[in-house]
Amino acid sequence: MNKAACKGMDPDRFMPLRGEMFKVKDAKRICNECPVRTECAEYGLQLSTMYDTHGIFGGLTRNERETILKERGLTMASWRGTRLVGATR
Ligand code: SF4
Repeated sequence: MNKAACKGMDPDRFMPLRGEMFKVKDAKRICNECPVRTECAEYGLQLSTMYDTHGIFGGLTRNERETILKERGLTMASWRGTRLVGATR
């Protein structure tokens, strides 16, 4: 975290809402210069298998993480799925 390019920045810059492509572009630009991008991306991928994650990790959006997890044969955690499963029991 000490080496992160985003250290000290407003975390909101990495949490774009739907349609806020300018935020996605800005976050990806910062991540592209980050010396710990690979580690951050892996952390985001691992986190996404356990929790419903949003925002940019290592330059990857939620959808991009989902695609990579699928390629690895893994499933992205989703509160919607959890909630639906819980509601039917
Ligand atoms: S790669 Fe991760 S640690 Fe680096 S700037 Fe992006 S969000 Fe921050």
